[in-house]
Amino acid sequence: MLSTMNDGPLSIARILQQGSGPHGSSAEVVTWTGAEPRRSSFSEVGREAARLAHALRALGVTGDQRVGTFMWNNAEHLAAYLAVPSMGAVLHTLNIRLFPEQVIYVANHAEDHVVLVDHTLLPLFAKLLPEMKTVRHAVVVGGDASALEAPPGVEVHGYADLLVGQPEEFDWPVLDERSAAAMCYTSGTTANPKGVVYSHRSIYLHSMQVCMTDGMSLAQGDRGLAVVPMFHAMSWGLPYAAFMVGASMIMPDRFLQPEPLVEMMAAERPTMAAAVPTIWQGVLAELESSPRDISSLDDVVVGGSACPPAMMRTFEEDYGITVVHAWGMTETSPLGSLARPPAGVTGEEQWAYRASQGRLPASVEGRLVGDDGQALQRDGQSVGELEVRGPWVAKAYYGDDDPERFHDGWLRTGDVGYLTPEGFLHLTDRAKDVIKSGGEWISSVELENQVMAHPAVAEAMVIGVPDEKWSERPLVAVVLREGQIADAAELREFLSGSVARWQLPEYWTFLTEAPKTSVGKFDKKRLRTQHAEGALD
Ligand code: ADP
Repeated sequence: MLSTMNDGPLSIARILQQGSGPHGSSAEVVTWTGAEPRRSSFSEVGREAARLAHALRALGVTGDQRVGTFMWNNAEHLAAYLAVPSMGAVLHTLNIRLFPEQVIYVANHAEDHVVLVDHTLLPLFAKLLPEMKTVRHAVVVGGDASALEAPPGVEVHGYADLLVGQPEEFDWPVLDERSAAAMCYTSGTTANPKGVVYSHRSIYLHSMQVCMTDGMSLAQGDRGLAVVPMFHAMSWGLPYAAFMVGASMIMPDRFLQPEPLVEMMAAERPTMAAAVPTIWQGVLAELESSPRDISSLDDVVVGGSACPPAMMRTFEEDYGITVVHAWGMTETSPLGSLARPPAGVTGEEQWAYRASQGRLPASVEGRLVGDDGQALQRDGQSVGELEVRGPWVAKAYYGDDDPERFHDGWLRTGDVGYLTPEGFLHLTDRAKDVIKSGGEWISSVELENQVMAHPAVAEAMVIGVPDEKWSERPLVAVVLREGQIADAAELREFLSGSVARWQLPEYWTFLTEAPKTSVGKFDKKRLRTQHAEGALD
């Protein structure tokens, strides 16, 4: 028997209507400019989205054509997030920090027809545009559009000129909820980037999870600081979730250094914020050198790589801010799991839960698989590769058969760890980062966390390096806090209290800066190359 319920499609247009209607005057988007911030109410953003949709139609955007964005987090990017999928086209967020040849690759692979580009990114974009074979229109947001030279076959427009006089309402079409809404390519550290295509349905359901109390708990009246870029993994779903429930958004634009971020927090009083651990390390260092009031923050969501427990404690104990550890991937929209302790667990006991990657929500099914391909017990001990599936988890890449990553509808995450009977996920490493020493495994993340617990250490990265006797041994690359001194012997001694003797690293190197990936994670690939080339001490 079928249900008697209405099954109208879930859509981005509904999110747009809810944010710009009922929440239109109570919620705002603040775009940081370095001077006076720009403010737009959600109803203004809604009207801008309608004008943008008309302007894109006028440029000939039809069907599921791809509209790329090469933009920071700002109000115009939010308007594009809403307008492009709602009109039936597909938003393609280009990751501005990929290598130039990768940006060109993804724009060509997705067959972008139009690209919206922030004027502050023109110097970078101008070199890429001539290689983007399918792009017919480049729309420059802010600044002077004539600064961009149009290659043959491409028209360049100014965003404001294009929108002027366009109607402030759009008759949003009714779309199949399974149709493509947005696409995002993974960083592709080893091969070409792979495209993940989100549907209206997956984004809608994911947004609801972001707003759940045991999710990111985003609600009306909140002010969310989205440090996580809109050009990578959809800014962790914050823009859509905020529009769905009427939470204001604070957008840092290009001001992502610790100093302006702290200034933003002090001035704009966010209640929640989201960023990768390296950003928060920078924020802590900035607060140490010039204290500011960031007490408006209740929760900060940290993910993208393992969050050092020492940092979580510092935020909690020194600033009264709860760090919520989350795990996810571009392929999982990206919210995969989130670490809130079980009800009633408080005090010291909560830390074991909070330091883990947390629980998978009902819509993300997970299992661990051993080397023999068999599913493992959730006994808190059996270590294997995490596989996931669910309505906001990818089951394939765009135009790319990759049986290595997907089988029987499951996504192989490449992350290794164990699950407890209570469902808490503990990732010990990425499969490719685990150090295999004399037949035993050493978790690079575990060692990093232990080293980063030393008061003189700002950042620590651990990689496996070849070793004749043990096949691989850990090498620790350390960045010390400003003005602090510590040598390898002292750090080894410090570790000996918490790390098994056979795991104690004998290789150490001290750096002034840690190599980072396009999205601010530790770049272990680059560190490995530097080591292989003998560029490390
Ligand atoms: P890429 O950086 O490859 O583009 P993503 O940003 O999608 O891809 O990164 C996903 C990966 O980031 C995960 O597979 C995992 O290895 C890592 N990651 C994300 N969150 C966490 C976390 N909380 N703890 C450990 N690793 C994490």
